[in-house]
Amino acid sequence: MIPVTITKRSYSTVERPRLKKCYHCPQTFYPKNDTKIYCLDCHDEVDRQKKRAHNRIKTQIEHGKMLRPTSYECWDCGKPADRYDHRDYGKPLDVQPVCLSCNSKRGPAKLGPIYLPRTFHE
Ligand SMILES: [Zn+2]
Ligand SMILES: [Zn+2]
Repeated sequence: MIPVTITKRSYSTVERPRLKKCYHCPQTFYPKNDTKIYCLDCHDEVDRQKKRAHNRIKTQIEHGKMLRPTSYECWDCGKPADRYDHRDYGKPLDVQPVCLSCNSKRGPAKLGPIYLPRTFHE
């Protein structure tokens, strides 16, 4: 008998997408990649809220009502901050200066209320 060595195959790179629960609503969906955390319905709304929140901060800075994030130290680690982090897009002016690595550790912000139906928008 020839001894057979069975090597365990790794499926990590060919893993099929698993059904994921949307970060915001009760819907489940198949994410295209690991960074997708919202279902398609919420995705557009997240984008809109993100843009709106970031624009609010930009305007505040332009009008001199807020300092640039680079004027601060990171809220979490004390290194120079380079951005403002939203924890809740429903409160667009409620932000903390953070650095890039702490920002990604913090994960996504909470969404403000989603107004449906969408035909009410614009
Ligand atoms: Zn959703
Ligand atoms: Zn930091």
